[in-house]
Amino acid sequence: MPHPGHRFRALLVVGLLMAAWPSAGFAQAPPPPAAVGEQTASALRARIGPPHEETIKAYVEAGAKDTKPHVLTDREWALIESAIADLPVFYRQVLERRLARLSFIDAPSSTGTALTRPSEGPNGELMFDITIRAEVLDASLSAFLTQKEAMLFSPDGSGYQVQVMAGQGSALTYILLHETTHVIDRALDITMKGGPFTAVWTDYRSLAQPYAAGAIAHSVYRREPKLPLSQSPGLYRALAGAPFVSLYATASAGEDFAELLAWRELSSRFATPLTFQVLDGRGVEIVSVEPLESPAVRSRIEAAQAALTRARTAAPDKL
Ligand SMILES: [Zn+2]
Repeated sequence: MPHPGHRFRALLVVGLLMAAWPSAGFAQAPPPPAAVGEQTASALRARIGPPHEETIKAYVEAGAKDTKPHVLTDREWALIESAIADLPVFYRQVLERRLARLSFIDAPSSTGTALTRPSEGPNGELMFDITIRAEVLDASLSAFLTQKEAMLFSPDGSGYQVQVMAGQGSALTYILLHETTHVIDRALDITMKGGPFTAVWTDYRSLAQPYAAGAIAHSVYRREPKLPLSQSPGLYRALAGAPFVSLYATASAGEDFAELLAWRELSSRFATPLTFQVLDGRGVEIVSVEPLESPAVRSRIEAAQAALTRARTAAPDKL
């Protein structure tokens, strides 16, 4: 039986690709706001609402149990407003233009964290619903990523463990950066046919060689079974030798692009570090990978930003 995570990712991608939108919708969309900052933050606050029933259905179909809309506490509202305020101006403008709804869901058993689904605006324009699992509201980025990487492995008595060190900033800031990059990508159609990285992707989902034949192709993120923890050093050594900012980036050209640009913002705005570490049963470090220090990753981060700039210049009315 496939791991529920497989089905979740499949749904996410189907959700992004399935519907057809009239291209004329772009022309009818309102122009970007003249003022940003506080006004944008309160405009975005007004978009927060319960998840669409189709979204709840997608979580349930992906194996999540006890799924229900999350009721935000005052403290959680403050955390969300602070994460929105942390976003670069361009990202807030994109959300103001393209975000139909931002929702939080209680789905404690879900393996997926966030779901971005296209929807149609009142004038037929392309809009998006972003739904985020409420548990992440309180999580630091380090705790969130450590938990996420743990889902790649099954315990085998080796005592190995994987730890991600990405500072004590909010996981929500990272998630909003990552999901908003998906919105940008879809609105400008950057990676749907494989994107700018033909040395890495032969199409949206297929890795190029040598990555397709390498250890990096054998993770849950590549729709493969969980690996025993004793194989974690090999997997992270493969990451160290590849131009990906994370293993999650190997899931598709779209995830690669979202990871590159999310980490570009985190590292440049907040100096957020990123270290994947494998420890043995005595807590001794076996492997340590710092993708943001890799020249190959840094050059792809800049290439992703250049691809975004090109796409914006070619279609200035779309975002
Ligand atoms: Zn994603």
